Amino acid sequence: MGNEQQDRPGDPLTALLDQVRLRLRDLDDGEPASYIPELGRVDPDLFGLSLCALDGQVYASGDTTTPFTVQSVSKPFVFALALADHGLENVLARVGAEPSGEAFNSIRLEPVTGRPPNPMVNAGAIVTSSLVAGDGPDERSARILEGLSAFAGRPLKVDEAVFASERATGDRNRALAYLMHNAGSLTGDVEEQLAVYFRQCSVLVTCEDLAVMHATLAGGGVNPVTGDRVVAPRHAQHVLAVMATCGMYDASGQWMLQVGMPAKSGVSGAIGVALPGQFGIGVFSPPLEEKGNSVRGIAACHLISDQFGLHLMRATVPQRRPLPPRSLHPAPLRSLRHRPRSQREALDARPDRIRVHVLQGDLDFATAEQTLRAARELPGAVSWFVLDLTRVGRVETVAADLLRALGEDLRTRGTRMVLADPDERQAMARPADEFPDLGRALESCEDGLLAELGLDPDAPVPLADCDLFGRADARVRAALADAFDTLRLPEGETVEPPGARLSGRIVLWYVESGRLAVCADSVSTVRTWSAGPGAALTPADFPARMSRQVLAERDTVCRTLTAEGLMRLRASVPEAVAVLERAPLEGAETVDRADTA
Ligand code: GLU
Repeated sequence: MGNEQQDRPGDPLTALLDQVRLRLRDLDDGEPASYIPELGRVDPDLFGLSLCALDGQVYASGDTTTPFTVQSVSKPFVFALALADHGLENVLARVGAEPSGEAFNSIRLEPVTGRPPNPMVNAGAIVTSSLVAGDGPDERSARILEGLSAFAGRPLKVDEAVFASERATGDRNRALAYLMHNAGSLTGDVEEQLAVYFRQCSVLVTCEDLAVMHATLAGGGVNPVTGDRVVAPRHAQHVLAVMATCGMYDASGQWMLQVGMPAKSGVSGAIGVALPGQFGIGVFSPPLEEKGNSVRGIAACHLISDQFGLHLMRATVPQRRPLPPRSLHPAPLRSLRHRPRSQREALDARPDRIRVHVLQGDLDFATAEQTLRAARELPGAVSWFVLDLTRVGRVETVAADLLRALGEDLRTRGTRMVLADPDERQAMARPADEFPDLGRALESCEDGLLAELGLDPDAPVPLADCDLFGRADARVRAALADAFDTLRLPEGETVEPPGARLSGRIVLWYVESGRLAVCADSVSTVRTWSAGPGAALTPADFPARMSRQVLAERDTVCRTLTAEGLMRLRASVPEAVAVLERAPLEGAETVDRADTA
């Protein structure tokens, strides 16, 4: 019976596959193939769905390790072996590449040449398996088994009972083979050629094998699990092209229209799908519709294609940020918020709590899947997982779905997913966890961490408590506090131009409450830095570029020390100036800062 357990509970991609499978569990149309008697003995409720990403990660839902015979799903792979042995021209001389529009066991051959229409129908497959190099049928069968095993990344075996059953009852294939022999398109001993073909169809695979085999084609011929090159990239391309036009027998046109991914089905109830450059899928569910394709298999592929927006012909808009899709490794980063020493030290002591993962280019299935993997490998201490989407162009539906599911999954594990996304694609995260730039996203995580540690980053810090004053005694502190002026900035007020008012006469700024930020302009959301209560700033912190301005993001109280004030202080309480000169100003820090400018 189809089992319901998940192989990796909580994994968002596995969960999506589970959803697809569970939605189709009650679809009970069709019957398992019985024209090969041994195939009729299968449990019709078996249902498995596997996906293999191009980094070799296999996701599995349902009965994905139950063996079944590969049947026609072997055809693309044996076609690939024939191409490797003879090249495209020579193979095309013997078998066409046109959709037949007819059933898998169609008897129609090309008029003059006697060529079968394509390698995906039985007649064409009998010819391609006869083309695989080898001295005699045993050697050819051995090469085919070895080849299919290389595609699967593990040694495969033949189901001798199915082989015997098919050989004993395969008169229609026999008839086809004799016709082709008569027409000159099949050469050699017909019974021997048929035995090679029947053995190839009787190779046992699992859903997971199919996913890896198709991922090998999708990845240009390199098996993503073993790393071995199985066929040349151009041959993988040829195979995918023929699968796209002929893989689903006389339903191929409809398939391309609705699912839009190269695929091949077999009468055992298997369907293999390859999305070039993205992944391979294996589906297994024995009941077939009248054309010989798995009912649930077709429905599952429809759902996956639709839900994830994977149709090959879907027009893609040119990417806005022309960068190669990439998912960079998580790195610890700090925001550009000026903070008092107590907060800086608390954050420095816990660099493992916040992780940043940088994505760039268009976000497709593969990049999203890599992100899921990065999230899976996060150290247990991480409580905030920041996804930096500021260099991301288009986000495909499947990627948005996966990232949204990742956010939910992380939350159940006590980690918040926080997005830095100037396009505010809120579909992917809770609005509260989405910020227009990396700086703000990091600030929010840091604030959360500080709150967890019992430090309130927004609580006012009066100048008298300022950590710049170190261990100075009360008299010195009072003298220092007196020397500062008070500047009140209501929320939204900008100080412009900053050079004149801020860095001119003022030598030291101290934020008692509220928040200051330096922005490119008054409407810009991208900030160079921000400063909260307890932060001390020197003129060097203020922008030299006049185009930038300082904005009070909240009602803010600043204390400022002017050059004259400092001179007066030097004359009256020289120890106080000495205290300031020893003050550990934040600019001296070496922490790796998020570059949000
Ligand atoms: N071995 C099967 C046959 O030749 C393969 C057909 C199929 O899977 O479509 O009849």
